[in-house]
Amino acid sequence: MPPSNSVQCPRCRTRFDDRAWDALDLSERIEAAEVGRFMRKWSGDECIEVRTCGFCKAPIPARRVRALQ
Ligand SMILES: [Zn+2]
Repeated sequence: MPPSNSVQCPRCRTRFDDRAWDALDLSERIEAAEVGRFMRKWSGDECIEVRTCGFCKAPIPARRVRALQ
């Protein structure tokens, strides 16, 4: 079973499941290769996404498993 991708906003505590998360505005994505330069233990199929909360507009960073193409 894949790790849960449920993400919680640090400001308003709203939880976003996969579909809700994907619907939020993406402000930044850091690919695995980039993250791997700074962190030793990082699996190649993960990236970091920063999306804007749909309720309070706070930026929410989340570690995400890259969707298989
Ligand atoms: Zn929020």
